[in-house]
Amino acid sequence: MDLNTTLDQVYGIGPNIYKRLQKLGLNTAKDAIFYYPFRYEDFSNIKQISELVDGETTTIRGKIILLNNKRSPRKKMNLTEALIEDDSGQIQIIWFNQPFIKNNLSVGEEIYLSGTIKNSLMGLSMTNPSYEKTLRDTTHTARIVPIYPTTENLTQKQIRYIIKKCLPVSYIIEDTLVKEIIEQENLICLGDAIRQIHFPDNEESLQKARERLSFDEVFYLLCLSKAIKNENQKNTAPIIKFREEKIKKFVDNLPFELTKSQKISAWDIFKDLEKNIPMNRLLEGDVGSGKTIVAIMASYNTILNEHQAIFMAPTQILAKQHFEKIIQIFENSNISICLFTNKERLIYNGKNKIAKTFSKAKIINEIKTGNINIIIGTHSVIGKDVEFPHLGLVIVDEQHRFGVRQRHELIERTKDISPHFLSMTATPIPRSLALTIYGDLDISRITEKPLGRQKTITKLVSNKNRSRAYEFIYNQIEKGRQAFVICPLINDSDKLGVKSVLSEYEKLNNDIFPNLDIKFLHGKMKESEKNEILKNFANNKTKILVSTSVIEVGIDYPNASIMMIEGADRFGLASLHQFRGRVGRGTHQSYCFLFTDNYSKKTIDRLEILESTDDGFKLSEFDLKTRGSGDLYGNVQSGFLSQIKIADLSDFELIKKAQKWTNEIFLSDPELTNHKELKDKLSEFIKNVHLE
Ligand code: ADP
Ligand code: MG
Repeated sequence: MDLNTTLDQVYGIGPNIYKRLQKLGLNTAKDAIFYYPFRYEDFSNIKQISELVDGETTTIRGKIILLNNKRSPRKKMNLTEALIEDDSGQIQIIWFNQPFIKNNLSVGEEIYLSGTIKNSLMGLSMTNPSYEKTLRDTTHTARIVPIYPTTENLTQKQIRYIIKKCLPVSYIIEDTLVKEIIEQENLICLGDAIRQIHFPDNEESLQKARERLSFDEVFYLLCLSKAIKNENQKNTAPIIKFREEKIKKFVDNLPFELTKSQKISAWDIFKDLEKNIPMNRLLEGDVGSGKTIVAIMASYNTILNEHQAIFMAPTQILAKQHFEKIIQIFENSNISICLFTNKERLIYNGKNKIAKTFSKAKIINEIKTGNINIIIGTHSVIGKDVEFPHLGLVIVDEQHRFGVRQRHELIERTKDISPHFLSMTATPIPRSLALTIYGDLDISRITEKPLGRQKTITKLVSNKNRSRAYEFIYNQIEKGRQAFVICPLINDSDKLGVKSVLSEYEKLNNDIFPNLDIKFLHGKMKESEKNEILKNFANNKTKILVSTSVIEVGIDYPNASIMMIEGADRFGLASLHQFRGRVGRGTHQSYCFLFTDNYSKKTIDRLEILESTDDGFKLSEFDLKTRGSGDLYGNVQSGFLSQIKIADLSDFELIKKAQKWTNEIFLSDPELTNHKELKDKLSEFIKNVHLE
């Protein structure tokens, strides 16, 4: 067996199990040994039967005295009953629906049993314990037992069996981590770490294994970031001078005063643009903090230098919204702006005053001849057939990162000149996490909200107060405001009991607010329908919009003052915070009402945090600590995160340590000429990470 041996060749694994393993992404022995447990049960402490306490989960060792299969007439189930004895006493064992156990075991044999103890009037018992004969070496019991993420029809026992079978390849896997690091940081070798992470001898060796494997993950990520950054800096970018006077004038004409951090961020960007190496900056700022205007200033400065700017949004709706905002801002200039999406193509310029529809070919031609200054669109803007003669700046809104591959493609079409990149995100990313997943980017942060904004009042509303909430909403609407209602699903058929957009819409429209204009919105609707609905909401014709999470990013309707979220427990704090950010964007006092049918303490505690803070960074720190980086950043599209399986990205010490080594290595050997193994490792790594 070697690292690439496919798992169907492992003894005991048939085509069915192989298929299930593939579902988990496990194809080869290598995949298997890098498939880490997500938790452990500590059965290493073997107890005497007489010491057992009701409710504890533990392991015992004893002899089988009795063993019988029975049918339970009442429940139509198979029961396997056993009586086990050690020096100190006896315990009754019951297994449900596992009649084969009787064939695996026999009276007189000695076995380990691990499970939860019940002590009732009937005496001591254990139900469905895992077991193992004492003669064999112990995989499933009498140790710290790994528990793996699994799928239907694949038991923990099966996964453990497979991993155990593959584990010998850990002896031939090469440990390519820089020797010096292993020595100085006192790390254990890769093979040991892999063996111990699956079947730890004890708590301490498990800890050492975790330390080693976590270090690897973070270190390689940081190295990768560094390598990408170095690579990027070899490209040449157009020098875009800061046109101070014109920019000042532009800012003076804005209907508001820029906040301090808007000014600082803009300044960071202007400084970057003046260099002939491409900017690669992330502008982070909570919803409503005013990132767009910073991006527009950067675009304007780019245009003043006779270069084009691209403004990319994740959805058609947002692209359109940006287009409308931007043409308003440049209404009295001679700047031409186009909207370029698969569905809609418009050109606006200050001279003809209205946006006209164009064919795809025509618009591509206009861009190519340099007649368009700002190109706004979805990703289709950078499609293969579009050429940009003077591209200076690419802005990516709510996408977090521009792909390495797309960047290369663009550079090829911009004749070896690499544009400057500005990504924008409203997902507040804790510093430790930003370092690891955005290590290749420079970061600017907008930390305060524009003046005059009131804090949105957030309330977790119990169902008995639901009608009061509706009354409140009605009053707000009478005062001229509007409301959003967010539901987790489109229709009811998907999951029982979870609020859906369609049924909620029916209810509100027919029963609760029959005299109000209510509309619904979800991702499966036609673009033209969506546009129509949003238009009516924008001009305050529609009062309530019932929607799925499509409304999450970027939508800007300052008149909306109520955000009502159904099934709030089904969303991460980061998402909920994003929803809340859809209101409180004007000068009106705004409200966010959270509803849930899940009253577990954990859920309530989590939702109550939203009531107490509107600091997105705090919320994300909290989510990172309690839920880990995985599911929290579901909406951070990051191939990077998929590479983090075990490292705790809130562990600042670990990250600092890895960062120190990364800096040291790249400082002395930026091309990694003396670190061939590391270089190879990174090439392999970059194949797995698709950098979106
Ligand atoms: P986001 O950062 O979420 O993308 P936007 O850029 O859409 O936020 O800004 C939200 C709203 O705030 C917009 O209507 C914008 O015109 C307005 N705005 C931006 N900056 C300021 C400011 N300094 N003062 C007042 N309003 C501002
Ligand atoms: Mg935005």
